[in-house]
Amino acid sequence: MCEKHIDTKIVRADDTDAIKEAAELIKKGALVAFPTETVYGLGVNALLGDRVREVYKAKGRPSDNPLIIHLSDPEDAERYCYVNDDFRRIAERFMPGPITVVLKKKDIIPFQVTGGLDTVALRIPENRIARMLISLSGVPIAAPSANLSGRPSTTSADHVISDMFGRIDMIIDGGDCDIGLESTIVALVGNRKLKLLRPGGITPEMLREAGFCVEFDKAVTEKLSEGEVPAAPGMKYRHYAPRSQVTLLDGDGSKRNEYLTRFKDDSSVAIVCFEEDKELANAKNSYVIGSMYDQKQQAHRLFALLRSFDDISDIKQIYAPLPDKSGIGLAIFNRMLKASGYTVITL
Ligand code: AMP
Ligand code: MG
Repeated sequence: MCEKHIDTKIVRADDTDAIKEAAELIKKGALVAFPTETVYGLGVNALLGDRVREVYKAKGRPSDNPLIIHLSDPEDAERYCYVNDDFRRIAERFMPGPITVVLKKKDIIPFQVTGGLDTVALRIPENRIARMLISLSGVPIAAPSANLSGRPSTTSADHVISDMFGRIDMIIDGGDCDIGLESTIVALVGNRKLKLLRPGGITPEMLREAGFCVEFDKAVTEKLSEGEVPAAPGMKYRHYAPRSQVTLLDGDGSKRNEYLTRFKDDSSVAIVCFEEDKELANAKNSYVIGSMYDQKQQAHRLFALLRSFDDISDIKQIYAPLPDKSGIGLAIFNRMLKASGYTVITL
């Protein structure tokens, strides 16, 4: 991991002059963290390969884990990759928004962005500040999530400050991210056929409703065996994880309550539960993620909750409910499964 040494300037998203300054910095090759509707991004001018390398250094990210390029308008995609009708359909229906499409790249995109692949991942964020930053800079912005590699993604400026202060040039504080989970990633694999590489805010149900046939990359719901390669290279890394062990419990509220009774006064254990888990929610060491019926709220709070456990030194073990896989629940399920290193107890 590189030494901390950069003077990081923190600015507010409602300061228009500061956003203009950020855009100038981006154009010149500086590293700027900015809010999006999914999670905070760590942006760099995607056309400057040598500067892109600095993003990997700042995050401690393996160089084969490619970045997503962010544009302000789907019309600009053609400059950077080969688009087709399925891309246009997705763009019309879901962009700007929390979806990333993998397409064959054009030569203008350096291989540092794509981790050596001949494809590039492309997204048009909806967040107003992100869009202003991209359009004022006049360049595509390559941006992974603005967290240290392996840690949960950052969904507030405080998270970004805690991981990135001293490592990057500027942080734009735009408050909490709406969705709180990273974008859905899809590859276009044939006429109206998509492969889901990472679940996110645009759900398989929404994609099917838009007329697409959706197949899932195995890495979305299962542990890959040794040497097996996921279609999204980032999916092979341990991710989204707090320092303590996470264990997922597959069972309803009463079964989880029965199993966790012995841990209720144990300060080395954190119990994640739903508002409706009345008996568990009363325990001193319980942390309510939200209503079991409100998956958007769960998604919005998940990474902040996982990160908060790192600030409580006593906690060694975290128990959480295995999320339901419908709707955005699939994205919560995927992140929790990875955070737990696939540790699930069936009750
Ligand atoms: P992050 O922005 O940190 O959430 O990471 C971006 C994700 O996009 C990583 O998991 C990458 O593996 C994935 N990704 C980026 N480019 C490509 C690509 N060309 N093909 C497949 N997945 C990609
Ligand atoms: Mg990430």
